[in-house]
Amino acid sequence: MRRLLLFIIAPAFLWSCSNRPAQQSVCLADMDTTVMPQDDFFRYANGGWLDRNPIPADKGSYDISDALESKINLQLLDILDSLASANLKEGSIQEKLATFYKSGLDTATRNANGLKPIQFLLDSIDGISTIADLQHIVAEMSRYNINVPFQPRCYPDMKNNKMSVLTIFHGGTGVDENYFKYPGSEDVIAEYTKHIERLFAIAGYENAAQMAETTVGVERKLSEIIPDYLLLQNPNNIYNKISLNELKQLMPAFDWEKYFTDLGCRIPADIVVISGTDFISGLNGLITSIPLNDWKTYLKTCTINNLAETLSKDFVDEDFEFYERYMNGAKEEGSLQMRVLSQVNTSYGDALGREYVRRYFSPESKAAAGHLGQDLKNAFCEHIAKLDWMSDSTKKAALEKVERMEIKIGYPNKYVDFAECEVGDNYTANIMNILKAQTEHKLQFIDMPTDNDLWWSTPQTANMYYLRIKNFIEVPAAMLQPPFFYPGGDDAVNFGAIGAAIGHEITHGFDDVGRFYDKDGNLANWWNDHDSIEFVRRSQKLVDRFNSFTINDSLHINGEQTLSENIADLGGISIAYTAFCNNKNCNHQEPGCPLTPDQLFFISYARTWAGSFSDEAARMHVMTNVHAMDQYRVEGPLPNLQAFNEAFGVKPGDRYFLADSLRTEIW
Ligand SMILES: [Zn+2]
Repeated sequence: MRRLLLFIIAPAFLWSCSNRPAQQSVCLADMDTTVMPQDDFFRYANGGWLDRNPIPADKGSYDISDALESKINLQLLDILDSLASANLKEGSIQEKLATFYKSGLDTATRNANGLKPIQFLLDSIDGISTIADLQHIVAEMSRYNINVPFQPRCYPDMKNNKMSVLTIFHGGTGVDENYFKYPGSEDVIAEYTKHIERLFAIAGYENAAQMAETTVGVERKLSEIIPDYLLLQNPNNIYNKISLNELKQLMPAFDWEKYFTDLGCRIPADIVVISGTDFISGLNGLITSIPLNDWKTYLKTCTINNLAETLSKDFVDEDFEFYERYMNGAKEEGSLQMRVLSQVNTSYGDALGREYVRRYFSPESKAAAGHLGQDLKNAFCEHIAKLDWMSDSTKKAALEKVERMEIKIGYPNKYVDFAECEVGDNYTANIMNILKAQTEHKLQFIDMPTDNDLWWSTPQTANMYYLRIKNFIEVPAAMLQPPFFYPGGDDAVNFGAIGAAIGHEITHGFDDVGRFYDKDGNLANWWNDHDSIEFVRRSQKLVDRFNSFTINDSLHINGEQTLSENIADLGGISIAYTAFCNNKNCNHQEPGCPLTPDQLFFISYARTWAGSFSDEAARMHVMTNVHAMDQYRVEGPLPNLQAFNEAFGVKPGDRYFLADSLRTEIW
């Protein structure tokens, strides 16, 4: 499935002192000691790892988190393989996981079915003769989470987050809308057009070239009504709450009561339009001005393109050729097992996660991460109390927010396993059934209290999340292992890795977006003007620094696009260092290690960003990602820290030296 943009979430990236036996964590062979740390710390810390870990043929980029994910995937495959060969109770969730997995591996049936699993949707689209028909099909496609011009979702209300509200996001383009909006990406659009043409040709349409041109024409018009991404980074610009009557006035082309009924949810009292009311009125204009036949062609594209990777081999291959080879620089398709695992993981993430936790996660790791989280929160409170640029009233609110922040470790209190969902031998139908069940599950909370026991990620996710609209952090079980966390390992290593990662998530509550949310996670202003001005002034130095990075001689990191993440990286490593210093009296170091504890701390941080990009993946990353590329998550923040400069003797003239006037300290 093509991924949908959900930017309310801050997806991002991850310990306590005790007398445990030391185990090897930082491996000197992962470093390149032939370069000077002052000149190329990224290479110094990671050179050995980078040389031994080239980008695999089935990926466009590869970093140490991907390596962890590969290990987790093998564990998940082991779970699925054991379920697939076991005698399981009929109708049990384990049996459904096994049946789903086997349907994906059954390429003979998939190839024989060809387009058949989605033919019913294509036939419905062919039957459109009025805007009312169009609206009905758009609602049905949204139930299957197919990327159409707008996405109805259910989220906590940003100003009253105990309640859920229907929230509308923009969408509907097969490549990020920025490729349409800004010059310099004409080659991407040309190749995307050819991709759509090839999909229609495989599907047996005679006028495939014309259908591709029509689709791209519709997507170009859609991109024109989508607000600029940077505008949407400010939460005050995305909280556009309107009544149902106002929605009707903005977009009279749709019968909205009927739309919500077709979507399978209750009629909402209010709607939050993330993309703005101009987007909705613009959409009304497009619905009425673009010929219905063009909409029909476009909706067929959405259907085939979104589900191509679940269909027969010819569709799967074409999906790979465009999205993985052309856009991402991969050279070979991943194994069938891995591709099917990815779908099972997306569809039955909680059910698979429960098995993962049972087999691979220990109560000791959960307890140790809990202690570490508290150490990080304490360190952050120390930093806030000492800030010389922030007034006492803002400090008080900031400290309350840190204290209220909940760090959830390992796995949710409650799983949603979709045990009632029908699973059979048709792979695509299985995926569509579960997507529909997921949509129904989420939309049932419209105008109802939010359920804080549910997680937004799964335990097997090799990543962490801070949810601004709830002021909590999820630390999935999968993150509590090397290279982020070494049970019984060196304190310097653990604070530099998982400590900095948890610190990163904590400071997301205080970045250029998170600072607009209060201690309860509601959108509210707790800053005075003086402190806001000073925060922006300090942030601007980070914007300038990241704007100065050039990749492959032509790509430029966008300092504004990546600001939230860069603030969190700088804040995370700063408070992790303080938390480490607070624990130094009980630090235990690996025997025979030639590095000082401070050096180990910073090397461990840098190692969590070991990774490289193909040219294609670098281009896509810079265009669409809110994170700077791995190397710059080391090179960007570290020279701002005096402790780093002292640990490695960085001095004027070194590439990692930053003059005082260019350094910044926010948190
Ligand atoms: Zn982040």
